[in-house]
Amino acid sequence: MCSYDKLVLATGSGLALPNAPGVTEYAFDVDQIEQAMRLEAHLKALANQPESRARNTVVVAGGGFTGIETAAEMPARLREILGEQAAVEVIIVDRGSKVGGAMGEQIAETIAQASDALGVTWKLQASVVSVDAGGVTLDSGERLEASTVIWTTGVRAHGLATQIPGERDGLGRLHVDANLKVLGQDDIYATGDVAHAATDDLGNHALMTCQHAIMLGRFSGHNVAADVLGVTPLPYRQPKYVTCLDLGAWGAVYTEGWDRQVKLVREEAKALKTQINTVWIYPPAADRDAAWAAADPLVPIA
Ligand SMILES: Cc1cc2nc3c(=O)[nH]c(=O)nc-3n(C[C@H](O)[C@H](O)[C@H](O)COP(=O)(O)OP(=O)(O)OC[C@H]3O[C@@H](n4cnc5c(N)ncnc54)[C@H](O)[C@@H]3O)c2cc1C
Repeated sequence: MCSYDKLVLATGSGLALPNAPGVTEYAFDVDQIEQAMRLEAHLKALANQPESRARNTVVVAGGGFTGIETAAEMPARLREILGEQAAVEVIIVDRGSKVGGAMGEQIAETIAQASDALGVTWKLQASVVSVDAGGVTLDSGERLEASTVIWTTGVRAHGLATQIPGERDGLGRLHVDANLKVLGQDDIYATGDVAHAATDDLGNHALMTCQHAIMLGRFSGHNVAADVLGVTPLPYRQPKYVTCLDLGAWGAVYTEGWDRQVKLVREEAKALKTQINTVWIYPPAADRDAAWAAADPLVPIA
């Protein structure tokens, strides 16, 4: 047991698998490194299975960010493991009525183009209702044979958020004020994926992304220290919103604005995505000056 003067809840989020039959037992996910490694080992072991449609097929449940990025990677990955001539199939099952539709009009067109080029197909207006060792069953009753099912929907804020009295959004995130203090609490801040925080005065809110989590981290650290020292806090503001979605061997797409206007595609966007994934998302070196500089809330992230 350890007491505190001020608490910052920064425990992130995780995939909350649904109760549907077979999901926990048979579906893979990429939420944590351990699960991603389990999927990787399974994919490699497919090479030892006899040729069949199920062996060559990956079903991805959910066509959001994680589902699209995961599916886009799969055709090349499967061919690497099963051979260039393998008749691989990658199918995204999504409840929406349009390919990438939930992402916005412009980016959806790019996602559709990339999906076609990669050979990723979409089952739209469909839900996976059960998973077993040989595939999935959809709500229509249709069956898809697949040895590999990857679940990507249902991210929720960490369970510790439920222990703090306060209003929560549909993702379990705590509502916070402009200084990232939990509404109704004097000494508790929430940040990153556990915070439901306004990014501007136009009604936009932080998403569960590292783009927002990094800035929220800077502001919450600054403000909790300001609180302890009795100095004026800095209200969290992050009006600029960008998206960089990896689209496997096709490249990537970079957008700006909450309506996701496409600014870069293919190799140019991929170079940016590689920079993000290999450099920007990492914490600073274990060096006092570097860490201090990186914690400055006024350093723009995007
Ligand atoms: C597969 C995947 C791909 C993603 N891709 C992107 C992307 O391309 N772009 C993007 O912007 N975002 C992406 N995200 C989202 C991004 O990773 C998160 O929004 C971000 O990591 C949230 O940061 P956080 O600090 O709030 O939480 P986390 O990064 O989850 O950190 C929470 C930390 O708290 C620790 N913790 C948890 N419980 C406790 C406890 N009880 N006590 C002590 N410590 C605890 C955890 O071990 C962890 O280290 C992706 C997420 C996933 C899963």
